[in-house]
Amino acid sequence: MNLKAIKKRLLNKERALKQIRVIYSHLVSMSDEELMEYLDIKDDKELFEYIKDLFISKEPNKKSLIKKCRYTDNSGRAKNLYSSEREAKRVAEYIYNTQKILLKIYPCPDVYGWHLSKI
Ligand SMILES: [Zn+2]
Repeated sequence: MNLKAIKKRLLNKERALKQIRVIYSHLVSMSDEELMEYLDIKDDKELFEYIKDLFISKEPNKKSLIKKCRYTDNSGRAKNLYSSEREAKRVAEYIYNTQKILLKIYPCPDVYGWHLSKI
């Protein structure tokens, strides 16, 4: 890779991380490394794929920052949105203790909040 290509890649990375911080405004104080770890992004390639998923979608209005979460569960109902990670963790623990179902917590790609998903 020549210098120009490296520069371009770094710029793209910077832009991608900036876009993520716009969406997840509560993560704004995290360093690049913390942010990528938090979102479970292992390398630059995954970062660009993540951004692509977020912004480049065939669905209309996907690009805009939607106030209401559009995600639905298997039965088509709106997915539960937890307003804090702690709350989501508590629910996940409760479900694990009562039903032995292991759930993962992830930040909603649309709005501020967290979802639970089967692993
Ligand atoms: Zn959501």
